[in-house]
Amino acid sequence: SAAAHIRSISPYQPGKPISELAREMGLEEAGIVKLASNENPLGMSERAKAAALAAITEVPRYPDGNGFELKQAVSRHHDLGMNQIVLGNGSNDVLEMVARALLGPGRSAVYSKHAFAVYPLATLAAGATGIEVPARDFGCDLDAMRAAIRDDTRVVFIANPNNPTGTFIEAGPLERFIASVPQDVLVVLDEAYSEYLPAALAYDSARWLARYPNLLVSRTFSKAYGLAGLRVGYGIGQPDVIDLLNRVRQPFNVTNVGLAAAVAALADQDFVRRSAELNAAGLKQLSAFFDGAGIGYIRSYANFIAFRAGDGAGVNQRLLQQGVIVRPIAGYAMPEWLRVSVGLESENARFIDALQKALA
Ligand code: PMP
Repeated sequence: SAAAHIRSISPYQPGKPISELAREMGLEEAGIVKLASNENPLGMSERAKAAALAAITEVPRYPDGNGFELKQAVSRHHDLGMNQIVLGNGSNDVLEMVARALLGPGRSAVYSKHAFAVYPLATLAAGATGIEVPARDFGCDLDAMRAAIRDDTRVVFIANPNNPTGTFIEAGPLERFIASVPQDVLVVLDEAYSEYLPAALAYDSARWLARYPNLLVSRTFSKAYGLAGLRVGYGIGQPDVIDLLNRVRQPFNVTNVGLAAAVAALADQDFVRRSAELNAAGLKQLSAFFDGAGIGYIRSYANFIAFRAGDGAGVNQRLLQQGVIVRPIAGYAMPEWLRVSVGLESENARFIDALQKALA
């Protein structure tokens, strides 16, 4: 039977798929709105789609296990060396590699309460101890996180912006925090949602890598690039950190189709800009509704908003009955809250209408 540390893990709870809700409720799939997994409502760039289709029509040999072309594109994008990049099957894979390479029994990882679920999952699966630090206004309390680092701590996980709260730490305090962390502790800065930041808040953490050798930044093609189902992400860091991660990486962890689509997606920054603009408008639309309706919510810097539903499970059920899928976040110690992803204007409107009925 499984070891105690495996038994202590609560499995990741993904958003309910459209097909499953259609079956459960006897609804038409076409009438269902899914705003549960922070996906890009525009789908993917046409260029990425064309590249993916071309890749799938080729003979399905093993993918390039070193991901040469994608790494080359990423290295140009961030102005870094090829040996500073590790590719992942989604950025979750990069987080898992960190845990496999640096954690284990007798070691610990620090992360905030309400932080992304994969941090505790990967930490516990590696047999390490998770140190969950109380949050401040639902976001990371950096001073408390610094103070929580112990002699056996090897990793600190921070998502900026954070999921599921959407909270954001500005570049100044974030960089000061990284500078204060002991060199033998890797700071994993998870930037899954960074493409959504307004220009005034955006910062270039790739430029910090030279100053802080214990920094690893993770990025994903799942959000603003719209390739969630193709599973591509990457980590950037100093060559010795990347070398460690490559030791525990699955040999062919990114598929042919994923590699090809990601190269094309990275080249289509216009699509990313349009996605971020649509998202900014959607955040306004949803916040204006919450403000007007007197519904509490956490100001978000990402492509979703956590709002206070009161009876989270009940309101979620009444939304599902109307064909609207959002994300319960009871597993993040927020049972009164639900998280809604920003969709197209019409999808946001469907959600607003359904929520009004669910709360009536
Ligand atoms: N980090 C954060 C903060 C996320 O919200 C997510 C997506 N839920 C991920 C990483 C992982 O996404 P992916 O594996 O699709 O890159």
